[in-house]
Amino acid sequence: MRIVVLSGGVGGARFVQGVVDATSPAEVTVVGNVGDDVEVLGLHVSPDLDSILYALARANDEVRGWGRAGESWRALETVASLGGESWFRLGDLDLGLHLVRTQALRAGEPLSRVTARLAAAFDVATTLLPATDDRLRTFIGTAAGEFPFQEWFVARGHRDEVDALRFEGAETAAPAPGVADAIAAADLILLAPSNPYVSIAPILAVGAIREALAARRVPCVAVSPLIGGRAVKGPADRMLARLAGGTSPRHVASCYAGLVDALVVDEADAHDLGGLGDVRPIVARTLMIDDAARRRLAESTLGAVPA
Ligand code: GDP
Ligand code: CA
Repeated sequence: MRIVVLSGGVGGARFVQGVVDATSPAEVTVVGNVGDDVEVLGLHVSPDLDSILYALARANDEVRGWGRAGESWRALETVASLGGESWFRLGDLDLGLHLVRTQALRAGEPLSRVTARLAAAFDVATTLLPATDDRLRTFIGTAAGEFPFQEWFVARGHRDEVDALRFEGAETAAPAPGVADAIAAADLILLAPSNPYVSIAPILAVGAIREALAARRVPCVAVSPLIGGRAVKGPADRMLARLAGGTSPRHVASCYAGLVDALVVDEADAHDLGGLGDVRPIVARTLMIDDAARRRLAESTLGAVPA
């Protein structure tokens, strides 16, 4: 079985762990969002790719929910004490990776190749690909103005309601090497329970990726990031309410119109399955509190697909 998972950061990474657990690392290719990428302190940070990498390497901090286990913050403390840019939380261990990636990118290595090298160094057997090697950046339109993604999300704590999204560079971005082939060769395509607007949409904004999904001959299944109409964490519910008109399964499905055959929804949303059209609902317990829960969700998702 060849499986491609489109994924954002933390929510996606948890799900990817379950999928790898339920299948095998070598069967899975993850296509990660790069719309969140940001240059801080001269470094190129790819938060979503790194969340996936750390989760697959089991180097992630389960309690904090993001970043690396055993992290320390001395470098950032120094930055702050020197009056430097310290709004973006970069731990010491994390910084080491950003240094290596940034140097490689400056030397002309594409992001996909650096990512593969980092994954190999972490002994991750799953293929991890950025959606694109080209520059693609998410911008958030609000009543207070338009902000680069991380400025809205981190610096402003995503408090501004979102009126519009813009994926700068998407019109000309090409899928990273391996992405189109992986989708074409897949037996199954999955959209992780990531934020549809700021994690999955920037991947789908790469025209050739959206076209490959629309032209698929294999099932594509999305997993809802909402439980009882509420995001487990972050602004997905507020964004759906404002931009899609509600937080029911049909509103989640509307983000993926024409691209998915089934939507995995939580038991807490099973009473509200109207309006899904030809998207088949799959009801499961979707809260990924531990390894067992992650694996169970992956098995429910995989099990619902005709062999
Ligand atoms: P980010 O890039 O780090 O913001 O992470 P993602 O976009 O991949 O994931 C964020 C989404 O994951 C949020 O909308 C959460 O509601 C969702 N999420 C996080 N944990 C869970 C979970 O255990 N179950 C489900 N169904 N969704 C989750
Ligand atoms: Ca993200």
